[in-house]
Amino acid sequence: MRSPGVHLLAPNVVLHVMEAAQPGPTLLFQAGIHGDEIAGVHALEELLEEGFTPRRGRLLVCPVMNPGAYRARKRPATVRGLWSGLDLNRCFPGDASAPEHEKRLARIFMDLVLEERPALVCTLHESTKRFHPDVKPSFGQTLVYGVDPMPAVIGRAVDRLNACKQSDEETWAPQYYPVPTSSTEVIVDAIGCVGICVETWMGFPEERRIDMQKEVVSILKDEMS
Ligand SMILES: [Zn+2]
Repeated sequence: MRSPGVHLLAPNVVLHVMEAAQPGPTLLFQAGIHGDEIAGVHALEELLEEGFTPRRGRLLVCPVMNPGAYRARKRPATVRGLWSGLDLNRCFPGDASAPEHEKRLARIFMDLVLEERPALVCTLHESTKRFHPDVKPSFGQTLVYGVDPMPAVIGRAVDRLNACKQSDEETWAPQYYPVPTSSTEVIVDAIGCVGICVETWMGFPEERRIDMQKEVVSILKDEMS
């Protein structure tokens, strides 16, 4: 297990590790696996600035999983330097000896979860499409899971999010949508944790999307620790 403080998973992939005095579960929040989905990155950065700490157990926070894509503000990184333009969220479990940087990076995240065994892995995404149960795929505003049955915490979190929504457009729903080779699904299969992809709709103003993602992270932290 990594000591409290700031660790580098790669020269520019930062992992914040925080530990409470009281023992408890380890929760991992991460964002920026898709570089054009910025609300989660900014939500985690703001929470860190505001003193995001665990009540019990440990918190691991990686605000920018895919720096090449984030710099390009594109879903995968632009083909440039080390980057091959692969969707990092389709590269799991990764390969330490692969020629593609994205596959090596995926392996680093896999090794992190195998070492830390978090109870929750929550990855923050955004979607261009509003969620509609009849339209697949459509994601915003949903808490997405890929392994049945739905983790109970998702139902509780959706109820709490809907209790503080500012309009009916912001209504949250759970969504079962397995994606093979996605970080969440491969990690859940490997360690049996709760895996959640948070998706907000990009049609909302940026500040509101960031606030909603902060609410999700805070509620999940509260529910799971
Ligand atoms: Zn995404």
